[in-house]
Amino acid sequence: MKFSRDESFCHGELQRFGNIELSPSSGVLNYGQGLFEGLKAYRKDDGSILLFRPEENALRMRMGAERMCMPAPSVEQFVEAVKRTVLANKRWVPPPGKGSLYIRPLLMGSGAVLGLAPAPEYTFLIYVSPVGNYFKEGLSPINLVIENEFHRATPGGTGGVKTIGNYAAVLKAQTAAKAKGYSDVLYLDAVHKRYLEEVSSCNVFVVKDEVISTPAIKGTILPGITRKSVIDVGRNQGYQVEERLVSVEELLEADEVFCTGTAVVVSPVGSITYLGERVSYGNKGVGVVSQKLYTALTSLQKGLVEDKMGWTMELQ
Ligand code: PMP
Repeated sequence: MKFSRDESFCHGELQRFGNIELSPSSGVLNYGQGLFEGLKAYRKDDGSILLFRPEENALRMRMGAERMCMPAPSVEQFVEAVKRTVLANKRWVPPPGKGSLYIRPLLMGSGAVLGLAPAPEYTFLIYVSPVGNYFKEGLSPINLVIENEFHRATPGGTGGVKTIGNYAAVLKAQTAAKAKGYSDVLYLDAVHKRYLEEVSSCNVFVVKDEVISTPAIKGTILPGITRKSVIDVGRNQGYQVEERLVSVEELLEADEVFCTGTAVVVSPVGSITYLGERVSYGNKGVGVVSQKLYTALTSLQKGLVEDKMGWTMELQ
C-alpha cells in the first residue's frame, strides 16, 4: 500500500512474498524513516484464527509515525490489512499448540529525498511467517547480562517508538552477550545508569513479596502490548502492580524477574549478571507469578478460556 504525506491512500493489494523495489535515495535507506510492528495469530481447535489486540499495534504505529514525521494508516486500515493478509495466508497458521503465525507490518519512507527531510511518499506492507512456540517444553528461564557501555535509548530520543534504527543500535551489545552465552542484554537508563529500562526486544518486570513492578513508560522504553496486558491480567488476579522507577538493586534482590513481549510472551529470567557478578533466582528461575501470568495470557491468546477482556479478534 503506497501513500503520500497527505495520507491519501492508494489501494493496497496482496502480492506474493518477494523483493520490493526501492529508490537508492529513499527516506528509509538514507534517514531511517522506518517503523515496524509485530503480532501473532493463533489457530483454535475449531479451526478459526485469533488475533490479539491488533488495534493496539495500529495505535503504536501511529504514535511512532508522529515521532518519525511519517503519515500512517488509520487503525481501521491497519487492522483490515492485517486481517486480509492473515486470511490470505490461512494455511500457514500452525495447528493449535504448534506455534503461531508471526505478522510483521512495516511502514517506510519509500519516496526519494536527497537533503535531510521527510520522504514525499510512504509504503505500508505486511508479511507473515509461521513461528514455533518460543518454549518447546514448558517455561525455561533466560539468562540476562546488564549492559554497562551502551544504551538503547536516551531521553528525547526515539527509544519509545518501534523505529528500525533502535534495533541497529542494540545489535553490537546483543551479539557480544550471545557470544558469551547470555540470552540477551538488559539496559539501564542512560542518565543515572541505575534504573531498569528493558531488554533488546522485550519489557522487564520484577516481583518482590508478591508485588509486581515494571519500569514506567517515559519515552525511553517501548510501550509493549504484552506489558500492558500483563499489568491488567496481574491486577485482575489480585496482585499489586506498580509502574515506576525500578533500580538495579531491586532487581538483584527480587524474588522473581520476567520479561514480556510478543515473541517471548512471559519469559522467566533465571539469572542476571551485573558487573561480573551473577545472581540466580529461585525455583530454577521459574517463579510462581511468572508461571501464573504466562498461563493466563497464553490461554487467552490461544482461545482456551473465555475472553472477558475482549482482547481477541476471531477470523473465520
Ligand atoms: N521492547 C522492545 C524494544 C521491543 O522490540 C518489543 C517487541 N515489540 C517489546 C518491548 C515488547 O512489546 P510487545 O509486547 O508489544 O511485543
